[in-house]
Amino acid sequence: VIEIRDIIRDFQLGQETVHVLKGINLDIELGDYVAIMGPSGSGKSTLMNLLGCLDTPTAGAYVLNGKDVSKMSDDDLAEIRNTEIGFVFQTFNLLPRTTALDNVALPMVYAGKSKAERNERAKQVLTDVGLSDRMDHKPNQLSGGQRQRVAIGRALVNKPSIILADEPTGNLDSKTGDEIMALFDDIHKAGNTVIMVTHEEEVAAHARRVIRLRDGVVETDTLNY
Ligand code: ATP
Ligand code: MG
Repeated sequence: VIEIRDIIRDFQLGQETVHVLKGINLDIELGDYVAIMGPSGSGKSTLMNLLGCLDTPTAGAYVLNGKDVSKMSDDDLAEIRNTEIGFVFQTFNLLPRTTALDNVALPMVYAGKSKAERNERAKQVLTDVGLSDRMDHKPNQLSGGQRQRVAIGRALVNKPSIILADEPTGNLDSKTGDEIMALFDDIHKAGNTVIMVTHEEEVAAHARRVIRLRDGVVETDTLNY
């Protein structure tokens, strides 16, 4: 489902070129459960942003479900982001003045769904992530774990097949982190491809496959089960 071929990502900082990803090759199968680890600065978020079509590579190919997305226009990338990929950010990135229900429903506005359809689906998704009693709360009226559930609901709402999460437990205490990981386990069991970045070995132990980056290259690629 995901084929990454010789991906290079450089950033230009004034006169200097910063080489961040230095030739990444990866194949990720449909339905797999993958953890990406590695030291701070090794390129994990840069890789996730490419996988999530939030960014495009300097060189190399990224083929997603048979389409080479590395050379697509911004509009086509936006379409892919809205239909094939759900992205969960470390800092949740929720709209602060908007209820949980409307935060979750938002991606369906871009997908052109009717208000009735959006409300029905958003309620369903919030129930699935365990927030049926918090639909009308705004982010500042929710705990960190609940905000992360809203962010996960928003990522799931358009039924993408691939769920990407950059340090989904990074801002949570360990008990809340465990609950969020149980939710990712369920999302994986439901048939989704789950790819997450984590610094924590206990979190990575949930995944089937662990990819470790070092200095912009894949250092190790191992299977837990
Ligand atoms: P962390 O664990 O701290 O989140 P990471 O592995 O996610 O680290 P990245 O955010 O991918 O690391 O960054 C990798 C390197 O790329 C860093 O040295 C960073 O400074 C550099 N970098 C990332 N984005 C840019 C940018 N837009 N311009 C210049 N350099 C960048
Ligand atoms: Mg990062």
